[in-house]
Amino acid sequence: MSAAENERYERMRERMTGGSSLNDDIEEIIITPEALAARVREIASEISADYAGKEILLVGVLKGAVMFMTDLARQITVPVELDFMATSSYGNSTNSSGVVRIIKDLDEPIEGKDVLVVEDIVDSGLTLRYLVGLLKKRNPASLNVCTLLDKGLTGAQGVETAYRGFLIPNRFVVGYGLDYAQKYRNLPYIGVLKPAVYSREG
Ligand code: 5GP
Repeated sequence: MSAAENERYERMRERMTGGSSLNDDIEEIIITPEALAARVREIASEISADYAGKEILLVGVLKGAVMFMTDLARQITVPVELDFMATSSYGNSTNSSGVVRIIKDLDEPIEGKDVLVVEDIVDSGLTLRYLVGLLKKRNPASLNVCTLLDKGLTGAQGVETAYRGFLIPNRFVVGYGLDYAQKYRNLPYIGVLKPAVYSREG
């Protein structure tokens, strides 16, 4: 983000803090709403071209991928169906333990369908690796992954993401669907949470 943009968002943040403490807890905005919208349009046009003549089943991973998935779906020009899964990883909310539990499975079978898993963020890649393994066993015609954010740490996990929005530093981020303790999902940007916020809650 340029210095001018940063200043503009600093001012926006100051104005918005009147009635809400959400913005106060953000150390730095790393992806602005405009940058998110522009990148979503780019990815959607790539996906539309790659899947020309096909239909896509978008599988959103709840809850973090919801904002991204609904924005993405509206920009894709081939027919899409939507379905959702919810997972939970054991361990605390700022560290993924790698043990994944399915809380909500898909509503419909995926056999023979072109499936595109939509994720908010790939951190260690363990969640994604587990999900991809599970869905592959159900014989989709194809299975790809689209993630908004990637911390670039997944080399060792062998997860292939066909579409990636942004490569980000290894910091804990919130906003645009991503939470900390179920909060901050409604921030319109991706920001780094002040470490004091999660350390004060242990
Ligand atoms: P992984 O299994 O790739 O380590 O972690 C994936 C899940 O951990 C994501 O779907 C997300 O729920 C959570 N996660 C990982 N990094 C972050 C982060 O920086 N911010 C937030 N809010 N959640 C994260």
